[in-house]
Amino acid sequence: MNCPYCSFYDSKVIDSRDINDGIRRRRQCLKCGRRFTTYERLQPAGLFVMKKDERREEFNRDKLLAGIRKACEKRPLPSGTVEKMADDIEAELYRSGKLEVPSAIIGDMVMEKLKGLDHIAYIRFASVYREFTDITTLKEVVDALVGDEPALSPPKNQLPLLSAKELEELSKRRQSDDKAKSASLRNK
Ligand SMILES: [Zn+2]
Repeated sequence: MNCPYCSFYDSKVIDSRDINDGIRRRRQCLKCGRRFTTYERLQPAGLFVMKKDERREEFNRDKLLAGIRKACEKRPLPSGTVEKMADDIEAELYRSGKLEVPSAIIGDMVMEKLKGLDHIAYIRFASVYREFTDITTLKEVVDALVGDEPALSPPKNQLPLLSAKELEELSKRRQSDDKAKSASLRNK
């Protein structure tokens, strides 16, 4: 690593310590004498995702994050939840030691996590990921959720899920509630 100040190619290590998942080195430039810090981390081996059509592409955390974020849009989740979920899934995938993972497995991991977190986000993600083409498939997923309900201890802000129709009405109602709320805030 070249010196960030004078670009000289050589430096000596004056301090080295382990940090969580790497090594931090304090270095001194052999030409200008200024000090800088480098971090060394293990680069995980490339992980590939096998898509439904059998195409492979390199695992992309940003893409995973975008999918989860979209499903969680405007849901009352604590900040950082979505990032943590993507991190956890990424870590789990690398820990598995596999070089190739079917996209369906990753989708299932997201579904599993969303299920315990927020049912609306879960339904949204499922509808994209499972490519719902009709209301019957949607209803099946909702029914399965409702069937699972006693086993779960949903967060306080978890909305109860009834039928798809009721769900839709509920979301409409919430939207107008939100509008009313923001209108009343504005009037204050
Ligand atoms: Zn230098």
